[in-house]
Amino acid sequence: MKVLIRRVILVVVGLFIFMSACIVHPPAHWTLATTALYISAIIGYCGIVLLLVMYSLGTRAVHGLYSDSPHTVLAVHKWLGIYVPILIFIHPILVTIQYGESLFYSVWPQTSSVFEWYVTFGRIALWVLGGTWLISAFLRGKIAYRPWKYLHYGAYVIAPLALLHVVGNGSNFIQHVSTKIFFFSIVIGFIGFSLLRLRTLLNVDSTSYQILEQSMVAHATYKLIVKTDGQALRVKPGQYIYLKTGILSEEHPFSVAYSDGQKLTFLYRRVGRFTTTLSKLPIGSKLSLSPAYGTFTQEAETSTEPIIYIAGGIGCTPFLERLISRQRPPSALIYCNRSPQTTAELPHLRTALGRRLIELYSEHAPPGTESGNFSSSILTQYFEAPSTYRYFVCGPAGFMEHVGSTLAAVGIPRSHISYESFEF
Ligand SMILES: Cc1cc2nc3c(=O)[nH]c(=O)nc-3n(C[C@H](O)[C@H](O)[C@H](O)COP(=O)(O)OP(=O)(O)OC[C@H]3O[C@@H](n4cnc5c(N)ncnc54)[C@H](O)[C@@H]3O)c2cc1C
Repeated sequence: MKVLIRRVILVVVGLFIFMSACIVHPPAHWTLATTALYISAIIGYCGIVLLLVMYSLGTRAVHGLYSDSPHTVLAVHKWLGIYVPILIFIHPILVTIQYGESLFYSVWPQTSSVFEWYVTFGRIALWVLGGTWLISAFLRGKIAYRPWKYLHYGAYVIAPLALLHVVGNGSNFIQHVSTKIFFFSIVIGFIGFSLLRLRTLLNVDSTSYQILEQSMVAHATYKLIVKTDGQALRVKPGQYIYLKTGILSEEHPFSVAYSDGQKLTFLYRRVGRFTTTLSKLPIGSKLSLSPAYGTFTQEAETSTEPIIYIAGGIGCTPFLERLISRQRPPSALIYCNRSPQTTAELPHLRTALGRRLIELYSEHAPPGTESGNFSSSILTQYFEAPSTYRYFVCGPAGFMEHVGSTLAAVGIPRSHISYESFEF
């Protein structure tokens, strides 16, 4: 699937390069300088179009319209985020060759003339692009989620600055109507993108729910039940929803544990600023809920193979509805936690699954449960032919890596395993 999507993206990217090449008029005389300018213009237009593609892939407000699988879309966004800037960086290098200037010219702001002002818009766009690229492609794992996210928002100024840069410096834009038409199609695309973004920011696409119940059900783990009096959201088991506590609030994704008509139940762990605020909200508080996203566990509906769900901590939430309310096809849960005190929904799961619940505790394992981390011996001890099962795995990134390598070592084909990460 991933390979197929990458191929499709490559075809689309190729098409954009072709279109950019078509609207840039070739030079009357081919010299090193005119060739450099010609190629740089193609790369410039292509880069702006690709920036728009990346904006739309990276924004729920847009990709939510055509995909309910943000994990896949965001994977493509990340992949483009690594390679597109490299392509765009070639643009100033070629322009500098054409002008016969030093590379310093392309990056150092100058405002000595109107022309230089427009070049400077491009220079600032380049600075922001370079910074965003460094932060996202190389430093993402080294900085916390929130600073990364806010710095990443800086990328939104790149396209408007690049478009302004074209208005003042794009010789093709200034001289040819066809280039102007292409340019204004990009501007319309950007305005459309911004309106969709604004629609989500102002909660226009969300549904208002009210907190009906909220209680701590395990160590730092809360059960939140919300209800709407309006049109209830349509949620399939395994899907997740973005919660906002107000217009200006951040939005955070949470899997729906159970959905029952007008009511939705979430289970969440208090880990940082948003979940702490959420845990303090009194009964009756209003929350804005996005539409439901994701396709995780949906293969379970049609699977003819028995299923093993493997959850690390609060990673059990996408499985609960299927395990407790549906139970078809036959399934088991390997539930990995530190101790029973940190484990959510234990009484319900024990009642619903009986011996098909394998409790695995890394710190305090009471009698009748397993102690330690997930391992191949747990699998072979409880299941006769592990490779005949379908697997769904959810939990922290490190846990999923460990489970993935253990399943591979036992000989489970990759096509039999689905993962959902609680991080984007
Ligand atoms: C698809 C999905 C489903 C999830 N379902 C659940 C669930 O059912 N129960 C549960 O307890 N947690 C769930 N999470 C994780 C939950 O979104 C984060 O724990 C929460 O956003 C943390 O916010 P914070 O401000 O409290 O903590 P922070 O300290 O700010 O964040 C802790 C970690 O959570 C992740 N995170 C933070 N904000 C976001 C965001 N806006 N979008 C994506 N990841 C973020 C980052 O990896 C960060 O390092 C889910 C995450 C995803 C992606």
